[in-house]
Amino acid sequence: MLEYLLVANSYKRVLLKISGEQLAGKYDSGFDNEHAVWLAKEVKKVAEEGVQVVIMVGGGNMVRGAQIAGSGIQRVTADHMGMLATLINALALTDVFESEGIKTRCLSNIFADQVAEKFVHRLANKHLQKGRVCILAGGTGRPYVTTDTAAVNLALELGCDIVLKATKVDGVYDKDPTKNPDAKKYETLSYQQALENPAIKIMDKAALGLAMEHDISILIFDALKQGNIQSAIEGEAVGTRIS
Ligand code: UDP
Repeated sequence: MLEYLLVANSYKRVLLKISGEQLAGKYDSGFDNEHAVWLAKEVKKVAEEGVQVVIMVGGGNMVRGAQIAGSGIQRVTADHMGMLATLINALALTDVFESEGIKTRCLSNIFADQVAEKFVHRLANKHLQKGRVCILAGGTGRPYVTTDTAAVNLALELGCDIVLKATKVDGVYDKDPTKNPDAKKYETLSYQQALENPAIKIMDKAALGLAMEHDISILIFDALKQGNIQSAIEGEAVGTRIS
């Protein structure tokens, strides 16, 4: 992984996890084009500096498998629907990125040959080396996991230096900061602390376990703040780092 690290504290290859909630922006569900344009401009700044960017998109703005399974819908089917939701988001985001002049490719782990390239390790690597942002759809392509786990899994597969998880809050707190004004923010956490604390729900435990096993850091940070994606990539002290 060291070969991807730039001097001046900047990561060379990163995976940015963007949830469906983030993509819904100002809406309760669906896709907020204006917010996507803003996000594209934020990513463009780092892509133009030569940082290789992989984006894992969630689908929770449309379907979360665990929530819609039941009453006749099998869990596996519900997860397939969730993965298709991530593909819808990824297609929209790819167009928005391209409209902002960013070289972008949409690669999917849920196969839909007419609309996106299949995720193939060597192909993704080639795109990244050519400076194209890779937007990944379909998570891992398998049911019973979420795009958090997929983010860690694909970051490992693509040799990313770090997983950047975009959230609405600026890190991990000991209690919900929106309800508890005395909530304390952690600057850093060990994988063990994040795994063992049931109050820490910002990242799936399965994703944390995989990250711990393979020693890849996760940064939980506020992506709604201008310049924060760049600051995170340049190694500045934003958010909470789990390592
Ligand atoms: N999903 C899946 N396998 C994966 C990734 C996602 O089955 O590898 C399904 C799962 O049903 C999940 C849905 O896709 O709930 C949408 O992803 P997620 O809930 O992670 O979206 P987010 O909360 O990040 O918006």
